Amino acid sequence: MKVISLNCNHCGAPLDVPAKARFATCGFCEAKLAIEHVGNSYSTTVLDELKETTAQIAKDVAEIKSSSEIKELDSRWQQERLSHMVTGKHGHQSLPTKTGAVAGGVMVAVFGLFWTIMATGISGAGSRMGAPGVFRIFPLFGVLFIAFGVFMAFRIYSRADTYERANQQYLSKRRQLAREQSRPD
Ligand SMILES: [Zn+2]
Repeated sequence: MKVISLNCNHCGAPLDVPAKARFATCGFCEAKLAIEHVGNSYSTTVLDELKETTAQIAKDVAEIKSSSEIKELDSRWQQERLSHMVTGKHGHQSLPTKTGAVAGGVMVAVFGLFWTIMATGISGAGSRMGAPGVFRIFPLFGVLFIAFGVFMAFRIYSRADTYERANQQYLSKRRQLAREQSRPD
């Protein structure tokens, strides 16, 4: 039987093992060794270190995987956010907010109320001065404005609500992935 001479990687003691052996136990320190055969040279690795290395690699792979999952989640959310955008009065896109919805609705409704009061006064004075009856419809535009303001406020409020929920879902999913990434093993 061919025997090869090695040194223990743990304590440095000389070691004679069968040439075909893949594992050995050091007679001095009793370290469990893996025998690595590269070309004509042999070396030993302590098996516990090997196990640690394997565990470290598995952990690294898990980290890479979850950080790429986070990146994917982020980019998907970037796309999804666009679908929540509403067009503002100057034509620019923005994310809906509940306060914005209420403030916008109140603004339009106040304008409508103001219009109604003014137009009622003007058409009243007009009809006393003999203006055609058709002018009586002017106050109605104000009422339409109020109705439109209320309608828009509800619409944008509900879109803001949908967006907030989606945002919460995204954030909690992201936190979960980040926790998985930093979990010690
Ligand atoms: Zn040893």
